[in-house]
Amino acid sequence: MQCSCGRKAVYHRRYSGQHLCARCFRRMVEKKFMETVRSNGFIAHTDTVACGVSGGKDSLVLLHLLHGLQKKVRFSLFALAIDEGIAGYRDRSLPYVTKACETLGVPLHVRSFKESFGYALDEVTAMKERVGACSYCGVFRRSLLNSASRELGATKLALGHNLDDESQVILMNMLRGDFARFGRMGTYRKHVNDQFVPRIKPLREIPEKEIVLYAVLAGIDFDFEECPYAPEAFRDEVRQFLNTTEEGHPGTKHALLRTYDKLYPFLNEALQPSVLPSCERCGEPSIRPLCKKCELLDAIRDGLARDDQS
Ligand code: SF4
Ligand code: ZN
Repeated sequence: MQCSCGRKAVYHRRYSGQHLCARCFRRMVEKKFMETVRSNGFIAHTDTVACGVSGGKDSLVLLHLLHGLQKKVRFSLFALAIDEGIAGYRDRSLPYVTKACETLGVPLHVRSFKESFGYALDEVTAMKERVGACSYCGVFRRSLLNSASRELGATKLALGHNLDDESQVILMNMLRGDFARFGRMGTYRKHVNDQFVPRIKPLREIPEKEIVLYAVLAGIDFDFEECPYAPEAFRDEVRQFLNTTEEGHPGTKHALLRTYDKLYPFLNEALQPSVLPSCERCGEPSIRPLCKKCELLDAIRDGLARDDQS
């Protein structure tokens, strides 16, 4: 098949019916990224953007696109990597981050769970009584990304969540009946807490397989490996369901995201407080007196003490 420009197509975009050559495909991804940034007012020239990077395809494509955007909008950009302390995984993916930042000339900052909270994730998961690894990891990473971004002077925190990630989480929150979390998925619209750095997701409308192809075509070197802590089974089931549905009904994931976006202003109004309080211990934004991170740190301390005694 041929692209409309006459070159040989490398990609069939089923949800739009287009066949695209490598050059038109890359332009299409860059255009979608630009449209998402513009239509949501994600970045202004006064912004300092912290780009959360892991070494995987999504975050490195995002870093690459943000770096390209700096030619048009003169904002400041730095990369922020979190080392959770997962032996054989994060220590192998961080060199991809270092290399990308050196190539693009983007400053890189690395923060670790061990230095920030006192425990590497592997130490926490070695406890006898524990919840799933991702429950600690997600809470600690979100907290550290926010506090480190703020301390480093960022006005926005850019995350590489793609269309697949977004549509999976929308559906998971709906199926779990987690209305509060469902209502918090968008970008914060109100100024609710000085300590909170607004999060932006410029890849949220781009499917995962297009991110992979873009990375390959743009020569972006990334880590293919998955985290050894198996992703939760429920998410895998939702992913499988969405992929099967998308196969039979192209455009399903986009439709789910569009539906959420139409609901979001109402959810935001109804569910987001006008003032988000701070944790009474660490000062990070938290809906409850003690934030989830501090609560988990207490539980880890107790769990490790019990392990020592036994
Ligand atoms: Fe953390 Fe879970 Fe992701 Fe691994 S899979 S990096 S443990 S959230
Ligand atoms: Zn706290």
